Amino acid sequence: MTAFPAQVDSSHELRPDALIEVRGLTAGYDGTAVIRNVDLHVEPGEIVALLGPNGAGKTTTLLAISGILSPMAGTIRVLGDRVSSHRPHLGARRGLAHVPEDRALFSGLSTLDNLRLGNRDRSGDLDATLDRFPALRGLLNRRAGLLSGGEQQMLALARALISRPRALMVDEMSMGLAPIVVEQLLPVLRRIADEHGTGILLVEQHVHMALEIADRAYVLNHGELALHGRADELVDQLDRLEASYLGQDPT
Ligand code: ATP
Repeated sequence: MTAFPAQVDSSHELRPDALIEVRGLTAGYDGTAVIRNVDLHVEPGEIVALLGPNGAGKTTTLLAISGILSPMAGTIRVLGDRVSSHRPHLGARRGLAHVPEDRALFSGLSTLDNLRLGNRDRSGDLDATLDRFPALRGLLNRRAGLLSGGEQQMLALARALISRPRALMVDEMSMGLAPIVVEQLLPVLRRIADEHGTGILLVEQHVHMALEIADRAYVLNHGELALHGRADELVDQLDRLEASYLGQDPT
């Protein structure tokens, strides 16, 4: 099981530059832990994929980092500040944006009004954001609920990015989308990380596509980190990785 070049990240060195730093995180629901002793970090300009089979605890990890879910043990720092689950709304102000699995759009509001809600402090640049997602320009007056799945995901990403967060978490961006749409959206994240130094934590079912744009990846299995390594190393082991850790048959 451990014959991979990549190993669990068990180092405990200080990471003063990390945008997201999680140590010994145990979290769950109603007193039952579903993730245990998770360590991970995201540095500026990095895309870090969080992989694992259904139910492994990927969404739970993001909810804890956002401060929506209280950790049972461990520490979480975002931009150097310790996250408090009592004040999750501070996440956005601290520079952390979170695109949840259901995208959390206001379906009755227009595309433009959804974008305005991501830019309440008016620090963002609507035009620059639309340059990233040009397909949204012709849809500004359409209700979000009437957009296609791919357009809704673009809107969710654009809304999260408009205020230029330093760190971004994206949960299952590809949910319900055709692979070709995912292939178009993932490189946008790569450019944002490269050009703005945004650190991105990406939960993604399309393992191969995620590893193509990621710098590093962690694999969660049954709530525990099973592997951590550079994406280019993991991609070489993809068939074995999928069979062993992701519950898929290598094809
Ligand atoms: P998927 O890829 O299917 O979205 P995941 O890796 O994101 O899976 P989580 O959604 O974090 O996994 O779920 C981890 C475990 O926690 C699962 O067993 C799930 O049933 C359980 N769980 C998730 N949300 C709750 C909740 N609100 N209350 C109780 N248990 C929950």
